[in-house]
Amino acid sequence: MKTMKGTGIAKGLAFGKAKYIKIMRSEIPAHNISKAESKAELAIFEDILDKSRAELQNYLKAEQISESEKEILGTHLEIIDDPELKEQITLSITKDSHNVAKAIDLAFEKAIIFFQSMENEMFSQRAIDFADVRKRLLHIVLPQEHDPFADLNAESIPIFSEISPSEISLLSKQHVGAYICKGISYTSHVGILSRALNIGCVSNIEELEEYIKEGDYVIVDGETGTVIRQPDDEALELFAQQLQIQDLIHQKGERLRDIESHTKDARHIDIALNIGLPLEIDQVQELRSSGVGLFRTEFLFLAQDHLPSEAEQYKVYSEMASKIAPKPLTIRTFDLGGDKISHLIPAPKEENPNLGNRGVRFSLAHPQILRTQLKAILRAAVHGNIRIMFPMIIDVDDFLEAKRILGQCADELYEEGTAHNADIQVGSMIEIPSAALSSCALARECDFLSIGTNDLVQYTLAVDRNNEAVNRYYIQHHPAVLKLIRATIINASRHGTPVSICGEMASIKQYIPLLIGMGVKELSVNAAVYYEIKSVVRNCDAKLHMIVKNFDFSTSLPKVDELVYRTLKPYYS
Ligand code: PEP
Ligand code: MG
Repeated sequence: MKTMKGTGIAKGLAFGKAKYIKIMRSEIPAHNISKAESKAELAIFEDILDKSRAELQNYLKAEQISESEKEILGTHLEIIDDPELKEQITLSITKDSHNVAKAIDLAFEKAIIFFQSMENEMFSQRAIDFADVRKRLLHIVLPQEHDPFADLNAESIPIFSEISPSEISLLSKQHVGAYICKGISYTSHVGILSRALNIGCVSNIEELEEYIKEGDYVIVDGETGTVIRQPDDEALELFAQQLQIQDLIHQKGERLRDIESHTKDARHIDIALNIGLPLEIDQVQELRSSGVGLFRTEFLFLAQDHLPSEAEQYKVYSEMASKIAPKPLTIRTFDLGGDKISHLIPAPKEENPNLGNRGVRFSLAHPQILRTQLKAILRAAVHGNIRIMFPMIIDVDDFLEAKRILGQCADELYEEGTAHNADIQVGSMIEIPSAALSSCALARECDFLSIGTNDLVQYTLAVDRNNEAVNRYYIQHHPAVLKLIRATIINASRHGTPVSICGEMASIKQYIPLLIGMGVKELSVNAAVYYEIKSVVRNCDAKLHMIVKNFDFSTSLPKVDELVYRTLKPYYS
């Protein structure tokens, strides 16, 4: 037996067989071919076209296909038979001696870049269609690796050297209880999604390969960050007891379900949920939470192999909203970019993706994707209480630009005579320091604000939230961050604009008394900690305001440490 200590990223206890998983990211193979080989490559090209055409025609025959999907598939068929594109690919094989995969990739890339450079929305949609078809064609010609997730089950403990947010939902589908991965940090999207889906995760185990061999039995405890290789009888007994304790904690939490979320001095603190997948919506009623404070819609994107159409999104949003009505469903528009890269959209590789085309900037650069989403939201808003929130807003102009497009979408729906509800609340995330510093103007224009501390910490302290090597600098309660949070709360209250905290800070019990003392009245948390946070809220009282209000946030970090971990400790322990 060997016990190893790493970092606990997501709570979750599991016992099973270790399985190393290597995820291959497919690259386009490129090599020069001889004149003799070009004939064979051309034959392969024809075969790819035939197979793709047949695939699409088969989909078109399916009964459950909607009108808008038919339209998209029809466009894709046209692209497959586009004579100009065909000629380019043929020449690239015969004259430039490219192998077929490279020739397809190059010709499509050229078309995509061309359409992307056009201002007109119709053309940017065309770029997306070309990207979709390229993917379909290459899928046929590139060797398909064995799906590394297919053999996993509830008895496996997969070990990764890297994993992406979209792959976490695959672990959930395979009923994996916990996994081990290198270099994941707590507020990375991989970490957030693992917690949302209740999959235990331990990161940063030193010399992992040395100590754990394929097929070893291991216990993983994502809460303490412990991994035990080949546990003895005593360790297994303890594991069984811990599982029982977890059940008891859950039952105890359930007793809080029907009790008001009030502080001791009867002030209501609203606790909503952060969700990443539509199926998590059921937790709102199960936990009796006040609604959804953050729906990270980009995971809809990342979990699919095609761009979600307006019809698909409308279905998802309207079902979710009607399930929890009249409670609010706060839909955050796609926050793509950063570590949430979609392979569905061709985008140049960025040196600093977190400072690049991310969040609302990405949406404004791909207006057709934004419009499709906004129209689906406005239509779904007929069925429930939907709020729209824009991510990564820099300042009030950024927000007004996004809102202007929302207005255009509502006008278009009106002109088309499509049922929709334009009378909905629109808010901004505060997750960039400039937004916090512009919170006065933003509070005037927005119906609500929501502070995303995960990014606010990253951008205020210039610490990559995904880089474990600089994790010690990622201090959520750093006085500089707290000053920005406080400025936002004060500015919001001057304008009577509600403000909530939806970053991970709100899901960490040690920070709740601090936040309530600073005047926060709304939190949005992960379902897994909902009862824990509610229990801390019920332990808070008016004295907190006195303690925190008079605190000097220009002070040094050790003083804030003392405030959080000593003075406020009685409220959360
Ligand atoms: C945040 O930045 O705090 C936030 C809630 O957004 P995300 O974690 O999805 O970037
Ligand atoms: Mg964010």
